[in-house]
Amino acid sequence: MTSFASSSVLTEPQAVHVSQDIWVDILKALSTELQRGQFITWFRDTAVLGREDKTLIVGLPLPMYLSWHLEHYRALTLEAAKSIDPTIEQIVYKVDGGLKDNSQRSVDILSLFPEPKKRKVPGRQEVKMAEGLISKILNPRYTLDNFVVGSNNRLAQAACQAVAAAPGGKYNPLFLYGNVGLGKTHLLQATGNEILKKDPRAVVLYTTSEDFTNEVVEAIRTQKMEKLRSRYRRVDVLIVDDVQFLANKERTQEEFFHTFNALYEDRKQVILSADRPPQELQLAERLLSRFARGMIADVSMPDYETRLAILVEKAREYEIFMDAKVLEFIAEHMPTNIRELEGILMQAVAQYELEQRMPTVGSIAQIMSKLHHDPHIEEEHVGFEVPEKRAATFQDVMEATSRYYSVSVQDMVGVSRVREILIPRQIAMYIGKKYLRMSYVRLGELFSNRDHTTVMNAVEKIEKKTQNDPQILREMRAIERDLGFV
Ligand code: ADP
Ligand code: MG
Repeated sequence: MTSFASSSVLTEPQAVHVSQDIWVDILKALSTELQRGQFITWFRDTAVLGREDKTLIVGLPLPMYLSWHLEHYRALTLEAAKSIDPTIEQIVYKVDGGLKDNSQRSVDILSLFPEPKKRKVPGRQEVKMAEGLISKILNPRYTLDNFVVGSNNRLAQAACQAVAAAPGGKYNPLFLYGNVGLGKTHLLQATGNEILKKDPRAVVLYTTSEDFTNEVVEAIRTQKMEKLRSRYRRVDVLIVDDVQFLANKERTQEEFFHTFNALYEDRKQVILSADRPPQELQLAERLLSRFARGMIADVSMPDYETRLAILVEKAREYEIFMDAKVLEFIAEHMPTNIRELEGILMQAVAQYELEQRMPTVGSIAQIMSKLHHDPHIEEEHVGFEVPEKRAATFQDVMEATSRYYSVSVQDMVGVSRVREILIPRQIAMYIGKKYLRMSYVRLGELFSNRDHTTVMNAVEKIEKKTQNDPQILREMRAIERDLGFV
């Protein structure tokens, strides 16, 4: 469906500039009612688009916000609005793609409500400046708390927990191995995050063996080996991801060996990962024997229950609501690793954003087969919605119009008379009359029991407009095309 593309035509920034003062006040009132995370997710890039009489028109940046706001926040928002301006009686929503990431038009709630100063995760960035050390930023999304434990990774997770509790202690070095996409990087970074949470001044350096190699090569070229060594000696926790890439790089291995020894002797923690167990790595014997002194743990493919638990966790993180049946389906027909599983979820999120379509077993199966993880199941078993041609219903008319104008069906049948809502409402009535041959009376009933004369007037008005307003005609054609009428 191309509805999103066509509706974006209409979501150009509006010419009129509306003061956001009232929205700022409303947001402030709302922020005390909601959890910060939720608040930021659903109210960022929002704005007031206009005010007509007793109606406040609220702009939302993405279609997926529409149903969410209608369902969860409309009443609260109205209440907050009334507390600030008692003359406001209703809120209507309009999606305006121009709001996305345009802080000049929308209210930048992040600056309104700065994050409470607490965990300063990237303390390493300063380290990087001051000491010339280079660490990749640890992704704050990776924590030990949101890592789902199953029999496939229990030992590895426990070891990470122990290391985070006492870096440089019993499990040094810690060596994790396993196939791609099974959570090694997550665990490594989560351990780094956890250590920093406890001690924000700790120097935690996370790097990949490739980056480390590049540094060594550069140091050799510029004859600054000594500097490199002394820099690394300041590290409290050294995390090197994917050490399999050190294979056959003798000079880098040698340097790594020295760095490793220096840190080890200072009781600094070293954490490593690779895609296979140490003995299968083509590394110098003396390095391998160092690894063997510490703790070696593997991560493997999770079983069904663990996969399901991971899915529940990820769906929560991405704030996508999925039926238990859908999650079970994915867990059952899982691809070979968890990264791919996340890919499927991301596709579902995108689809939801674009089409406002809740993921179903059928839509997930389609995504999986597109990503070449054929779920190997009979179509009728998953209830594929076979896209056969069928005649459009009035429901389709309402949905297509709502999509095109980026307003909700609920507002269209409602009572608001602001232009943003009025035109889509009248167009839907017109299409219902013209193509579905519905009666004025029936249409009136469907639009909150309006009188049939109201519908008649609306249809006539639109009919006239299509004759002398090329813009309206274009909009109408787009919707008719979407519905397969023209
Ligand atoms: P690897 O480094 O082993 O290739 P990653 O750590 O990059 O794998 O994991 C891929 C994705 O799967 C990450 O987004 C990670 O958060 C997720 N993941 C893997 N295992 C788990 C788990 N047990 N619980 C939660 N998320 C997981
Ligand atoms: Mg990795």
